[in-house]
Amino acid sequence: MNKPQGKVLTFDFGGTKLAGAIVNKATGEINHYRRKQTPKSMGSQGSLDVIYALSDEILKLNNGNEIQAIGISFGGPITRDGQMIIKSQHVEGWDYFPLPEVLSKHFGLPVYMENDANAAALGEWFYGAGEQCESLFYAQVSTGIGSGIIINGKIYRGMGLAGEFGHLTIEDDGLECACGKLGCLESYSSGWGIASRARKIYPQMAEESPLRQLTLGRPENITTELIFEAYRQGDEKMRALVRSAMASLARCLADTVCILDPERVVIGGGIAKSKEIIEAEIMPYLEKYIPKFIRSHFDLRFSVMGGQETLFGAALLSEEKFR
Ligand SMILES: [Zn+2]
Repeated sequence: MNKPQGKVLTFDFGGTKLAGAIVNKATGEINHYRRKQTPKSMGSQGSLDVIYALSDEILKLNNGNEIQAIGISFGGPITRDGQMIIKSQHVEGWDYFPLPEVLSKHFGLPVYMENDANAAALGEWFYGAGEQCESLFYAQVSTGIGSGIIINGKIYRGMGLAGEFGHLTIEDDGLECACGKLGCLESYSSGWGIASRARKIYPQMAEESPLRQLTLGRPENITTELIFEAYRQGDEKMRALVRSAMASLARCLADTVCILDPERVVIGGGIAKSKEIIEAEIMPYLEKYIPKFIRSHFDLRFSVMGGQETLFGAALLSEEKFR
């Protein structure tokens, strides 16, 4: 495979934060990483102003070195051709917004856009735990749950929305998801799903339980990080909650593996930071749910890119062979 060349200005549009950096595709280095808040109510013009301000900072640090293109990872659905945002659950004013066209006019550079799970899958596949294998299923478990499918070095998009892994149904008439459906995986096993389930059982938890101690008795202080910390400190209720979240995740992963039989599966997103817990809890369920004849070559890894896989994936979009 020809090595990717050149530098790309990349952006990662997450929930309420915008991150940007310059990625050197040939060396796999990331430079001038910067992050800014994007408040929910600022609309698309407000968000564009944040993008321009962030770019000014990054381009100043880049000192006039050549930039080949711009790559965007967007945290929400986009159209199949990558030209338009369909919707943002987090920031207002993005519905059917042609972000690549607007940025291309402003910067005079080609602009490529992909949704965050696909961008992360591509970045991880090329530079990280995917090791450029033939087929990869990448499960992104963060605040929400998404996934990316890479087949023969390309993102598989289906009709444009392939990989909506978080909306697989795991329970009939179960918990309500942000998508409006009941019983989605995301409501059970994502960062917000786990935290909102913890909030529900919080009133029944003993005063001296680790989670209660860590959150100073206030359910509004619950975060996924503190739930995993409580798990480490032996909180029985949090151990049971994380175990049940991993059982649900394992069921959906096993179903996916039965359909795709990929060479490798990678779990990434915020949850990869607690790899030792996830691995210990999910493996027994995967053993149980993946049929024996597939299990023999089932290969599960964890993201090794520390959250920057989306920026790396966004940079690779400038290479036609990966799009
Ligand atoms: Zn859903």
